[in-house]
Amino acid sequence: MNDRFTMRCPKCLSTGLERLPERVTNWGGLDIFALKCRNCGKVLYGDKVCQEEYDSQYDVWRKDAPTRRKAAEEAGRKRAAEAEITRRAAQAERDRRARKRREQEEERQRKERDNRAWVELNRRKQVERVVEPVPEVRICAWKDCDEPARSTSLYCSRNCSNKNARWRHKVRQQSDTVAA
Ligand SMILES: [Zn+2]
Ligand SMILES: [Zn+2]
Repeated sequence: MNDRFTMRCPKCLSTGLERLPERVTNWGGLDIFALKCRNCGKVLYGDKVCQEEYDSQYDVWRKDAPTRRKAAEEAGRKRAAEAEITRRAAQAERDRRARKRREQEEERQRKERDNRAWVELNRRKQVERVVEPVPEVRICAWKDCDEPARSTSLYCSRNCSNKNARWRHKVRQQSDTVAA
């Protein structure tokens, strides 16, 4: 805590007090010691007056020291609390960004897994079809169906197409649950 006493002008409270140079008066004596305020021009004449003003100001200042110290401590605590709030907010923002990156990465991996599973499923089906005894007949793409597919479709019927769609949806939901 930077807490130093400075005498002030009793009139305007400016700290710009300067000592007037001693000079020889026109009757031959020396001017007395004097302090002049650079701000308002107020002059304190004489050692005694200057000393008394100094002492009385110093006394007030000294008695006020605990209050100043308390205020300084309070200000220090407030600064520290504000710094802590700022620090926590910054940390929360960093955490939020990291969480978002993690979620995006998990979503990307999940899609990749889905795609791989789908590709793998189709590949297996194709292999199975190749080894089927009657290869010229395309079998319905629904896994639990052995009916021949219609010439314009992967499936034998609208029903199997729907079943397959529902099954894929369910598999996807399960993989979501596992990932969560
Ligand atoms: Zn002044
Ligand atoms: Zn079918």
